[in-house]
Amino acid sequence: MTRPVPAIVILGNGSLATARKIAQIYPGALIHGLAGRVDGADRVYHEFGATLRELYQQDTPIIALCAAGIVIRTLAPLLLEKGAEPPVLAVAEDGSAVVPLLGGLGGVNVMAREIGAGLNVAAAITTSGELRFGTCLLNPPSGYALADLELGKRFVSDLLAGETVRIEGSAPWLAQAQLPEDAEARLAVHVGPGERLPSANELLIYPRSVVVAVSTGTEGLAKAIREALHQAQIAVQSVACLLAADTEMASVQLHEAALELGVPLRFGSDDLAKAIPQPVSMLGDERIAIAVAEQPLDLAKIGRPRGRLAVVGLGPGAAELMVPAVKAELARANDVLGYETYVRMAGPFRDDQVLHCTDNREEMQRARHAFELAAQGRSVVVVSSGDPGVFAMAAAVLEALHESSDPAWHSVDLEMLPGVSASLATAAQAGAPLGHDFCVLSLSDNLKPWSIIEKRLDLAAQADLALAFYNPISRSRPWQLGQALEIVVRHREPQTPVVLGRDIGRPGQTLRVTTLGELTVDQVDMRTMVIIGSSTTRVIPRADGRPWVYTPRSYGDKLTPIQ
Ligand code: SAH
Repeated sequence: MTRPVPAIVILGNGSLATARKIAQIYPGALIHGLAGRVDGADRVYHEFGATLRELYQQDTPIIALCAAGIVIRTLAPLLLEKGAEPPVLAVAEDGSAVVPLLGGLGGVNVMAREIGAGLNVAAAITTSGELRFGTCLLNPPSGYALADLELGKRFVSDLLAGETVRIEGSAPWLAQAQLPEDAEARLAVHVGPGERLPSANELLIYPRSVVVAVSTGTEGLAKAIREALHQAQIAVQSVACLLAADTEMASVQLHEAALELGVPLRFGSDDLAKAIPQPVSMLGDERIAIAVAEQPLDLAKIGRPRGRLAVVGLGPGAAELMVPAVKAELARANDVLGYETYVRMAGPFRDDQVLHCTDNREEMQRARHAFELAAQGRSVVVVSSGDPGVFAMAAAVLEALHESSDPAWHSVDLEMLPGVSASLATAAQAGAPLGHDFCVLSLSDNLKPWSIIEKRLDLAAQADLALAFYNPISRSRPWQLGQALEIVVRHREPQTPVVLGRDIGRPGQTLRVTTLGELTVDQVDMRTMVIIGSSTTRVIPRADGRPWVYTPRSYGDKLTPIQ
């Protein structure tokens, strides 16, 4: 199993050298630098507290190059809420001290030692059990699961108090530990897949060595699996995965059962027995077969996971306008597809992530490619700027799916994750020009006839809707905006407020407030969002002299505004 890649968070340029040394220990780890203070970080953040808390909540291991106290105070409000937590370490700016703070069960001491070795200093390990025995007994290696943390803590304090211990079963990782072993000991470390009653004398560790093959997903499956395991006297915690046929990939009951049991799902060809390392023993309930291996199983070698395809919106550009769900999706992606500018905007990426950059026009081809990758069991992200459902990839992806009869494509776990669309980002900066009913139009006649655009413009302008124009103009579409404005001025006064947002949320953004009468097409390019007010849209000055534009929620005394 691969460990999650840590985030290295720094506050100033003084920490860069140490941060880079640590980044070498963890390939793919990104250095997060404070905006305005750090030059050359992989990722820029604006608020230390919010950034640290977000990383923590996403279970990302954190290496913060600052005082331990700052990290503690920042994360303190979150500590009570969480059972499991990622490793969190404070490292001195100059690399002279490594302090593991949180995530003892997530391997923080292992990381502290790794970083200490990389920086040539001793890690400040304070965990007694770990110091005495050279390993954290409560944190077995991947492939093994501790049965009960609270009982485990008691067990370790008994050991620390001077008791001896026996090892039952195979625990290869303990061969290196300095345990006070004695064949007659009262205390025992027991490693095995069998169902056992919890006991204070025993540190029970389950190897994940069991595969449960399921023929179909049906109602009550989780309960049936529990019963089958109980009959076979096998602990649920020993299950490495549920395994089902490819044809069951989209089964809701199967996914619910896996979720309820807390085990991963894998899929194989119909010939499931081949994928299982041991002969399958059929039970009374013929939907379920259980196989037990000698050793913990490597999930990567059992079937494949259900592929995932997420079509995500990056927002207008600024990192803080990207929704957290999209950030998390980008972090888990194996493949990222999109127009090169947007893929770059979504980065940086780790070395293990594959980028597929294509031309902006190749939407359908990109959508099909995304399904091909996801159908192989990969986690795929297709990126759009703004919102993926607004003149972007979400509809193209669904169209590709609609056209396909490939069951593997239809089995993909498909999700659209929204983003802040350019009209909304621009409106927010200007005030609230879209505060009442409004109409969103793309002025591009690449995918629809110009006559339809004219008709919609005419009717929307007549209906006194505020208007937001996407794709207002381009080199290959030079005259369309002029013609569109000619239609609008038939229904709107020349003093109607107009907002032009260019590169909103990106470097060099500009926001301009003008009027319909003053608006000329040369003020607009393909990176501009054009918002034209309704008859009620108004402009008021801000304290700093710039204008606020808003469209009131109600018509007030304007009872018959539509002529
Ligand atoms: N899916 C995108 C829109 C894609 S269409 C979204 O929801 O925002 C592309 C058009 O969107 C551009 O021609 C421009 O009119 C507008 N646009 C996209 N990003 C913008 C930005 N950062 N600032 C202003 N307009 C933008």
